[in-house]
Amino acid sequence: MSSSEKIYRCIRCGRGFSQDELRILPGLRCPYCGFRVIEKTRPPMPKRVRAV
Ligand SMILES: [Zn+2]
Repeated sequence: MSSSEKIYRCIRCGRGFSQDELRILPGLRCPYCGFRVIEKTRPPMPKRVRAV
C-alpha cells in the first residue's frame, strides 16, 4: 500500500500532496502555503495491465 499518492489538495494553491507530505507539518495544513483547508481527492484509478 503506497502512501505517496497525492490524494490531498490544497484549495488555496491547488497543489496536490500525499499523506507523507502532510505529516511534515503538525495538523492538517498545506505543506506549501500553510493553508489549513485541504480536500481529499480520489486517487486515480490503477492502470490495468493487459495480459498478453
Ligand atoms: Zn496550499
